[in-house]
Amino acid sequence: MPFSDFVGNPETVHRLREMLARKRFPHAVILSGARGSGKYTLALMLARTLNCLEQPTTKGTDSGGLPDFCGHCSNCTRIAQSVDLESRFAEAVEARENLRDTDKKETRLFIQTHPDVLIIPPDPPQLMIKVDQVRHVIETIYYRPGEARERVYIFTSSAFMKEAANSLLKVLEEPPEFASIFLLTENPGELLPTIHSRSMTFNLGAVAVTEIESRLAQLRPDWNARQRALVARLSEGAIGRASSFDLESYVAARSHAMIMLKSALGGSDNNNAHTELFKVTESYRSGAEGRAKIDGLLRTFYSLLEDLMFLQSGAAQLVRNTDILGELKKMSEAADFAWVQRAAEGLGEVERGLRRNLLRSLSLDAFATALERVS
Ligand SMILES: [Zn+2]
Repeated sequence: MPFSDFVGNPETVHRLREMLARKRFPHAVILSGARGSGKYTLALMLARTLNCLEQPTTKGTDSGGLPDFCGHCSNCTRIAQSVDLESRFAEAVEARENLRDTDKKETRLFIQTHPDVLIIPPDPPQLMIKVDQVRHVIETIYYRPGEARERVYIFTSSAFMKEAANSLLKVLEEPPEFASIFLLTENPGELLPTIHSRSMTFNLGAVAVTEIESRLAQLRPDWNARQRALVARLSEGAIGRASSFDLESYVAARSHAMIMLKSALGGSDNNNAHTELFKVTESYRSGAEGRAKIDGLLRTFYSLLEDLMFLQSGAAQLVRNTDILGELKKMSEAADFAWVQRAAEGLGEVERGLRRNLLRSLSLDAFATALERVS
């Protein structure tokens, strides 16, 4: 199962494994790629391969006996407990919340399920890597690993506080033989040039829609083929986003956005559409989860408007909401390019209004009315 489970970017994975095979693995590796592209998954696979007690190799025409990990030795299983980053992060945050106030201030966030493998997430509330986190890395990295062959440090974000970045630089100048540092980033430009020059960078690019679709057949058997096709197109080539996609919320938000669009473009039965429309905007009134709900609505709205633009410019193959293609085609005939553009600008207004804490339902109403005015 191991490396063959990784979705996409086979050449990058191959190069990294070849370096493992030649025992020339770099001390500092930057893995860059979009959210959900598999940076963390890959880093943990490499951490297990560096430390697997059984050290299998994958035979086969493509992998040519490259190092792999067994998945069941004590090092593999303990490192694997960190796989669910979101849950481990939430647990670490909660554990800190339960400390006494004085301790809370001095406690930095870490995730550690193996004594020699340390995961360093951005520290809330600022969600930055802080200097005390890097100091802890410096305090431990020069000790030989106890149960692993290689100490592994994984920074899950490249948002470093200035002092933290400078401290990291010191480690990168003189890394010990037995340690590997992974820096994960969505935006490599955030890292100091001096950090780049002391690291090797590997990029995880977007995965083809068809490949994501076929992986989803295994990962999400609860979705039918139409749903998998939709999610694969909406996740922008990122397998992590695809496999954890909240389809139910998306479809709910989309049906609301469609009601608003139809009401704006609708012909004779506009009265009916209006009643429906106000039911929708009413439902965005308030509540703690309201903000996430309206953010979801706005994102969905943009994706529908983009699809309409694709249809109008004769690029139907780029449409993502393929399961409602028929409806979208009808809409794209009723709305011209300028209308779609004005609608997108109107969405921008709503977003600005939300930032100024305008009442949600009111700004949605205003948006819906504005859509009609331009049609
Ligand atoms: Zn193992």
